[in-house]
Amino acid sequence: MDFQFNEEQRMAIEGARRFSQEKLAPAAAEFDEKAEVNLKGLKELGRLGYLGMTVPEDYGGSAMGAVAYAGSMVEVSKADAGVAVGMSVQNSLVNDAILHFGTEAQKTEFLPKLSSGEWIGCFSLTEAGAGSDPASMRTTAARDGQSFVLNGTKNFTTNGGIADVIIVFTRGGPDGRNNSTFLVKKETPGFSVGKHEHKMGIRSSSTTELVFQDCRVPASALLGEEGKGLKIALTTLDGGRIGIAAQAVGIAEAALDESVRYAKERIQFGKPIAELEGVQFMLADMATEVELAKTMLFRVAWMKESGHKRFTKEAAMLKLFASEMSHRVCHKAVQVHGGYGYMKEYKVERLYRDQRITEIYEGTSEIQRYVIARTLLGA
Ligand SMILES: Cc1cc2nc3c(=O)[nH]c(=O)nc-3n(C[C@H](O)[C@H](O)[C@H](O)COP(=O)(O)OP(=O)(O)OC[C@H]3O[C@@H](n4cnc5c(N)ncnc54)[C@H](O)[C@@H]3O)c2cc1C
Repeated sequence: MDFQFNEEQRMAIEGARRFSQEKLAPAAAEFDEKAEVNLKGLKELGRLGYLGMTVPEDYGGSAMGAVAYAGSMVEVSKADAGVAVGMSVQNSLVNDAILHFGTEAQKTEFLPKLSSGEWIGCFSLTEAGAGSDPASMRTTAARDGQSFVLNGTKNFTTNGGIADVIIVFTRGGPDGRNNSTFLVKKETPGFSVGKHEHKMGIRSSSTTELVFQDCRVPASALLGEEGKGLKIALTTLDGGRIGIAAQAVGIAEAALDESVRYAKERIQFGKPIAELEGVQFMLADMATEVELAKTMLFRVAWMKESGHKRFTKEAAMLKLFASEMSHRVCHKAVQVHGGYGYMKEYKVERLYRDQRITEIYEGTSEIQRYVIARTLLGA
């Protein structure tokens, strides 16, 4: 595509492509098969500057910006979408939340270690009874003098099993409506990692329950204002959706590349299936959809980078389109491969499974439609 990247952006994306193809892609099938977290791959991305891409250099980040981040996420996702979601959470849910809502002391303490990959972070909002409706969460934070005591269980937390720092969302106050956010270090007494999920896709990523049992944190662990927890969550998720859209685009682009290669090699009726119009039409539709989603991706990333205060509607449209596009493209990729596409020896089998989550996390497609409609109707 001919989106005009500047030299730094081009180099960042090229670097991500090289690292992902050399180091992540060859091992991706094995991590998937064993459902083993590729922590080494994720940490290596940190050492190369890809875990602090929107963090200013003063706080130890590489300050490459949201456009370079989106392009790099596409490249990492093409190789291993499980590693990519870890990168997305670190950059756009954890770092961005601390950058925008943290105190100077929190930024100085957390951002350099997160940006370098020395520490891994997670963003824990969902609970068993609170998914699309986070306001119904039950994890509580009760003030006790100069500290807060946290109780409750979060679930489905990406990076949960490997996190050094947990951003956790709670409710409190006399009527239980006082939503607040805390930065909890993993060694805090009363915190533990619960069940590790056994997943359909993105199996090289960690997804776990997180348990808080009389977990006492100092008042200085409060992220942003007391009572503003849900606002922090929703504002941060706008940026997060750029990362997930980039993941969806990367998976789709990989599925397209695999399909073009396979169509040229596979002979039926005495010629490559790429010469059959029915197959060509599938490839043409796939390429067109990937291109369109990529254009949207860089536009919304540019909005974030150039300081647009809110881009809620655009981020929701992007995430909705890119994730459902990725579904259609991966579906066709398996079709182009015929029976071989159903077999684990072929990459499109994994891409088809990995893609599915992009329509669910950081807000399901239905929730994205709800957000878009609410903005359109001025509600
Ligand atoms: C692998 C994985 C990783 C995850 N990582 C994280 C993470 O790091 N941090 C975190 O906090 N959460 C995480 N999640 C949780 C994820 O964000 C939620 O699963 C998602 O928001 C949906 O919530 P739910 O699963 O409870 O589904 P539900 O909310 O129960 O939804 C069930 C169905 O009802 C539909 N529905 C619900 N409400 C509406 C509505 N108002 N209008 C129309 N339809 C509606 C949904 O679209 C869906 O189709 C992760 C989940 C998975 C599977």
